[in-house]
Amino acid sequence: MMAMRSKLVAGNWKMHGGMVQNQALLSAIVMGTAALRKADFAVCAPYPYLSQTQTLLRDTPIRWGAQNVSQYDKGAYTGEVSAAMLVDFGCRYVIAGHSERRALYGEDSHTVALKFKAAQAAGLIPILCVGETLDQREAAITEQVVAEQLDAIIESAGINALVQSVLAYEPVWAIGTGKTATPGQAQDVHAFIRDRVAAHNPEVAAGLKILYGGSVKASNAEELFAMPDIDGGLIGGASLVADEFIAICRAANN
Ligand code: PEP
Repeated sequence: MMAMRSKLVAGNWKMHGGMVQNQALLSAIVMGTAALRKADFAVCAPYPYLSQTQTLLRDTPIRWGAQNVSQYDKGAYTGEVSAAMLVDFGCRYVIAGHSERRALYGEDSHTVALKFKAAQAAGLIPILCVGETLDQREAAITEQVVAEQLDAIIESAGINALVQSVLAYEPVWAIGTGKTATPGQAQDVHAFIRDRVAAHNPEVAAGLKILYGGSVKASNAEELFAMPDIDGGLIGGASLVADEFIAICRAANN
């Protein structure tokens, strides 16, 4: 039996944007997605723009979130931002374990699990990113790598924690490179992830949104989203271009 999962398209602006560009981009996205009722849409903005994002999106169906969160509640953690602070700015989502955080800021699966739990404890929906590097794919250990990243969360937070979360399969070699996984390559890993969750709890697996991320564009979104285990996308570069992002949202809404 096919589970009915609505699709989600989430933009990850990374360290891009500014007050003027954000205003134009968000206004265009609000208008361009107004008629799309079936799928859900969100943008993950840099911390300083969460207030602006909240102001521009609060009366729209588009949700917003952050790209990172501290694993700690409060205290002497200079430069960090807590999950409760994100809630203060109306965030629904927060990305956890993006490959850029894992690779450039030394976040290991243990830290990612703590961040995932801190986000949920505050009422946020973590978007947990998993994915292999090119070397790992070529060494045929993609499933092993993704399983390790997923298992760290399941062991730490429990299988039921996945109910209030979103997963994103993001092959590192496809992020920001213009090289997209083929729909078949992505589907294989998405199905692997869902099976692994199903081994713990089939119902949780059936309801779990698994997004694909890695050079999704207007021109390839439709064929990716047509795969049975791909429930939308996490969009980097193309989320900064209103027409591209809107077209991807439209593909998810079909
Ligand atoms: C991302 O940053 O999560 C991402 C998928 O980036 P891009 O779409 O630019 O590959």
